[in-house]
Amino acid sequence: MHAMVLERPGEPLAWTERPDPLPGPGEIRVEVLACGVCRTDLHVADGELANPRLPIVPGHEIVGRIDAVGAGVAGLEVGQRVGIPWLGHTCGVCPYCVGGRENLCDAPLFTGYTRDGGFATAAVADARFAFPLGDFGGEAGGDVALAPLLCAGLIGWRSLAMAGDGESLGIYGFGAAGHIVAQVARWQGRRVFAFTSPGDAATQAFARSLGAVWAGGSDEAPPEKLDAAILYAPVGALVPLALKAVKKGGRVVCAGIHMSDIPRFAYADLWEERQIVSVANLTRKDGLDFLGLAPKIGIVTQTTTYPLQAANQALADLRAGRFEGAAVLVP
Ligand SMILES: [Zn+2]
Ligand SMILES: [Zn+2]
Repeated sequence: MHAMVLERPGEPLAWTERPDPLPGPGEIRVEVLACGVCRTDLHVADGELANPRLPIVPGHEIVGRIDAVGAGVAGLEVGQRVGIPWLGHTCGVCPYCVGGRENLCDAPLFTGYTRDGGFATAAVADARFAFPLGDFGGEAGGDVALAPLLCAGLIGWRSLAMAGDGESLGIYGFGAAGHIVAQVARWQGRRVFAFTSPGDAATQAFARSLGAVWAGGSDEAPPEKLDAAILYAPVGALVPLALKAVKKGGRVVCAGIHMSDIPRFAYADLWEERQIVSVANLTRKDGLDFLGLAPKIGIVTQTTTYPLQAANQALADLRAGRFEGAAVLVP
């Protein structure tokens, strides 16, 4: 197999040949068909997340086809197409796992961070954390189109639930997650207000094309107070701005795994039962719920594809905001 490997944070990923991995008990191996590039991969590559396993193969939006099955795997077989997400393993016995909040597990493994991910021609996963994707026709069911759903879509789904049932929703940072969530929110009958980097007219037009009723810079106030706002941009300075944009009782959801520091702000901006919450990881239930609904919602992902060997270019383009939607690597 070949993989793009991070040896040390801050260095480019290195094109590496390795022996084909074998699935252990309870594991599957897939031929990687496509793997999305997430902002979290940038945080791993930059060393902004503590204690990665090194060397590591990043990538946690894997669409693959099973080509080997380890002992004791139930319900999955060779030839099936599956999605492999960020949550790669949970302990099953900690209070969070037992309480139905395995996204907060005390001893988890994360794909592309603490176990090898999908910037590769092959990947091994814990079978219990792989989602059958089925094979359905049409553009929306293609390997590349589905890849961004595995994290941008799933985290987006969880953050949307966390935002509550409010009808007017602000989205700060209109990238891979934002452009998927906007479509889900519209399908749910909400109105979307998109906030981009100030002056980013292209992304504002992109947001309007996906049904946003308003799009503007993150330094602008929306035309009305919002029920909730979700932050996908890793910029702490947006938190006080989002607080000012929501109504009494409104909620600000921070959906990124890493964010720059939140500047101090006046208590009056939090007063009247406004809330700031974060969203961490996903549960398998999130995955099954969302991936089951995705075909009904008719989500159309905007993707830019790169050959696997061009993973460093994809990461650089993500950092610089050179594409709309999501980047996807194709081996
Ligand atoms: Zn646990
Ligand atoms: Zn991700």
